[in-house]
Amino acid sequence: MEDVLIVGAGPVGLMLACELGLAGVRPIVLEKRPEPSELPRANGLGGQIVELLDHRGLLERFSEGSPFAGRAPGFPFGSVPLRFAGIEDVPLRLLMIQQPRLERLLAERAVELGAEIRRGCQVLSLTQDAEGVTLDLVDRPHGSGRRVRARYVVGCDGGRSLVRKPAGIGFPGTTDPEVLRLGHFAADVSVFESPQLDGLEPGWNRTPHGRLLLTSLQHGVLIAGVREKGGPPDGPVTPEDFGAAVRRVLGRDLPLGEPVWLSSTVSQARLADRYRAGRVFLAGDAAHLFPAGGSALNVGMTDAANLGWKLAATLLGRAPEGLLDTYESERRPVAERALMQTRAQSALDRLEGEDGAALRELLTEVFAFEQPLRHLAGLLHDSGVRYDAAPAPHTGSGSDPGSGSGRGSGAEAVHPLVGRFAPDLALADGRRLAELMRAGRPVLLDLGCGAVLDDDWIDVVRARADDAPTDALLIRPDGYVAWAGADGLRQAAEEWFKLTASRA
Ligand SMILES: Cc1cc2nc3c(=O)[nH]c(=O)nc-3n(C[C@H](O)[C@H](O)[C@H](O)COP(=O)(O)OP(=O)(O)OC[C@H]3O[C@@H](n4cnc5c(N)ncnc54)[C@H](O)[C@@H]3O)c2cc1C
Repeated sequence: MEDVLIVGAGPVGLMLACELGLAGVRPIVLEKRPEPSELPRANGLGGQIVELLDHRGLLERFSEGSPFAGRAPGFPFGSVPLRFAGIEDVPLRLLMIQQPRLERLLAERAVELGAEIRRGCQVLSLTQDAEGVTLDLVDRPHGSGRRVRARYVVGCDGGRSLVRKPAGIGFPGTTDPEVLRLGHFAADVSVFESPQLDGLEPGWNRTPHGRLLLTSLQHGVLIAGVREKGGPPDGPVTPEDFGAAVRRVLGRDLPLGEPVWLSSTVSQARLADRYRAGRVFLAGDAAHLFPAGGSALNVGMTDAANLGWKLAATLLGRAPEGLLDTYESERRPVAERALMQTRAQSALDRLEGEDGAALRELLTEVFAFEQPLRHLAGLLHDSGVRYDAAPAPHTGSGSDPGSGSGRGSGAEAVHPLVGRFAPDLALADGRRLAELMRAGRPVLLDLGCGAVLDDDWIDVVRARADDAPTDALLIRPDGYVAWAGADGLRQAAEEWFKLTASRA
């Protein structure tokens, strides 16, 4: 019996494989595609996942050759531009990286950490019992059907997840009434100066019949998108079909260049009604689909970081009761928030006529002020997320990001950092807090109070910081603060990490 089988080698499955590998568990990733995908889907990551890659020491490697990495200068919020210039320490971080490169780097890292990626293995069915989960699959490289068993299975198999259905998990939500045709064209960016563009701007252009996107993120590649009412075409998008859509929306042809890749997509707003059914978990697009851009990989890959250490702790006998259930109670509310803001973006973009124009004009005025800009940057980054102060038996209600109910240790006097993503403190020895998180283990950062914790899993770091917000911090492997202050360390460490030998 395997420990963990991950279904799907997309960014989320691969991120989970990295996190498990780091914690000493060797997962097997089953991927139906025989080769890595070259589909140009996401152009980048935005949000807390960028900080998490920094925690793992991967940010530099992933940023190599990137057209942009850093604090966001702006963001197209449902076609209303957010402009962050002049705002200090804007919370939203971006890393422009094409999805095939992201997947390639994550796969390399997962293999370095001991994961096995079995390509050409399509999972066909799933059953579970008290001891484990059984998957039936077609193993194409070996030309055979196979049966594999594991203590836990995680469905990272995308929006049409096969894992979700036999696990009995519903996926309610709505489907957009519009279709987006997307194309990459071999074209010089001087196309933007072409007289035939006649008033079209880089970015989204609105007409009475739909919207047209023109942009370029890579030298020699023009990205064009056409959004209009209706469903997807019957077959694959052809150059003729794409050209006809441009004519319908714009009323004329456009010189776009030679098509390199064409596709169509219909956005959906959906959230799994549970993230866990027994020994089966869901993460990424299998658990949530957002109808506007910018949040899917952030939420999905941080799901993986949340689940990874909890599964590993369970397998290593270090999980207190209820820890695995906190995956859903912590992460589902985060997806609910992302669903709320992406639904709002989608509605703002889609609303037509004078009503839509008035709403966008009003919000453009509101978004000129610092406070709403900061709020939205925080929402897009997930910096408002606050988890509960301690794992507790699952109640089904989940935590409320941004509020933190403060269950468990010291509920009466919970430090404001508890449940929050740890701030990247600059330490007096020249290190940053992010650098302490490379190993993916819990960290006790003693900032001068002489905290003592003797446990083989928890790294104890003694350091000074000029702007120390507290005496000591106990940080979970996913970067969230489990405990802060001077009192109650032992109780918090027991609650989160089930101490083996402690003298706290
Ligand atoms: C055009 C476009 C642009 C986008 N831009 C952005 C963006 O800029 N930023 C952003 O954050 N997000 C963006 N997204 C969304 C992003 O691409 C997805 O959220 C992301 O791919 C989800 O990752 P995942 O690992 O959950 O699922 P997927 O990437 O869908 O991976 C699932 C994997 O599971 C495999 N699989 C499925 N079924 C089985 C089975 N039965 N057995 C074995 N393997 C199976 C699939 O082959 C696939 O490799 C974009 C999406 C599109 C379509």
